[in-house]
Amino acid sequence: MKSPSWHRDEIILALDLYRTLDSKDMTKNNPKVIELSELLNELPIHERNMQNEKFRNTNGVQLKLSNFKYIDPDFAGKGMSGCSNQDKEVFFEFMGKDEELHAIASQIKLVISNKDINCKLNKIEDEEDYSAKEGKVIYKLHKLRERDRKINNKKKTQYFEKYGKLDCEVCGFDFQKSYGDLGIGFIEAHHRVPLSELNGEKTTKLNDLALVCSNCHRMLHRSVSIDELKKQIK
Ligand SMILES: [Zn+2]
Ligand SMILES: [Zn+2]
Repeated sequence: MKSPSWHRDEIILALDLYRTLDSKDMTKNNPKVIELSELLNELPIHERNMQNEKFRNTNGVQLKLSNFKYIDPDFAGKGMSGCSNQDKEVFFEFMGKDEELHAIASQIKLVISNKDINCKLNKIEDEEDYSAKEGKVIYKLHKLRERDRKINNKKKTQYFEKYGKLDCEVCGFDFQKSYGDLGIGFIEAHHRVPLSELNGEKTTKLNDLALVCSNCHRMLHRSVSIDELKKQIK
């Protein structure tokens, strides 16, 4: 079975390593390469049954680093062709932005290092139309944070006690008004803390959550802020 193609998060992690290693050290015996191979096997991205015994092994990581050499206009040697379009996209997106790249890679690593959270992220289903610069791991963490029933219920109770209704913070849609009894108590919770600031440890506070309707929630997941969406809505 062929290994699945590299995902954005995986490319980000490999590129971050590429930026820190000397080109002659990009070999499969390098401890950093071994470490990345192990890390890639922990990511809650690919189905476990897609991960064969060769999945992201040290050969694969070494090859990816050679692909970057091939793409890199600043690299004098040859490198290996056969890279994907996404390899190129991510490479040029972060060209000259080592710090930003490293911040995202560190954030992904921090989340993965928390075994409990990582295990929960594995159970979060994929969403096709997400678009997060920070990649899928951090996006899944965002969704995990939004699924905490206890804090969601607290938020709804607090809001209802204050305003006497549960309406969307962006467009004002009120499920009960439109759907009658069926809509009583229904509204979704959106985690408003920027993805780049999410990490493994923080617990969600009531103020981190916004109550929004399902449509606005989908739009917010296309990487706009609540204020931007409010302005855009017609
Ligand atoms: Zn709405
Ligand atoms: Zn959300």
